[in-house]
Amino acid sequence: MGTEKIPSSVVQFAALDKLLALGRANSLWPMTFGLACCAIEMMCTGGSRFDISRFGAEVFRPSPRQSDVMIVAGTITKKMLPGVLTLYDQMPEPKWVIAMGNCAISGGPFKFKGNYNVVEGADTFLPVDVYIPGCPPRPEALLEGIMTLEEKITGKRRWPRIPPDGVMS
Ligand code: SF4
Repeated sequence: MGTEKIPSSVVQFAALDKLLALGRANSLWPMTFGLACCAIEMMCTGGSRFDISRFGAEVFRPSPRQSDVMIVAGTITKKMLPGVLTLYDQMPEPKWVIAMGNCAISGGPFKFKGNYNVVEGADTFLPVDVYIPGCPPRPEALLEGIMTLEEKITGKRRWPRIPPDGVMS
């Protein structure tokens, strides 16, 4: 049985895809954008104590057209929904979404019968890639979410997992 020769152009494109994925995963540009209390924890993650720049994701962009990650941090009200959708639509491909906190995952404490003004989760209208539970999640949890997203983009885990209590052994 003979071996089939793979065209060199296919090999080159596969290598280029991997290289692009590696570059994208390690230089994520989140949008400067917050909806409620979870956004305070997101801001802390950018500070020196937690230092999101260690993972290449510190360049928070003021425009959706320059961003590739939307961190939905906070409560999504029905009034804000069209605005969030517009921001997402304005982001270029490839792009990713992180649902940070219970509100962004499912409506959080506002998920109750008779609720008339809160959307029950970002994934009801956006393709969410990573979910970070908590009310609010700690900055370490957001860092873990960023690393999970990196892993999703490259297919490889580069960093040790951060336990839920944030204490590394
Ligand atoms: Fe605020 Fe909790 Fe909702 Fe986060 S999950 S936005 S901390 S109420």
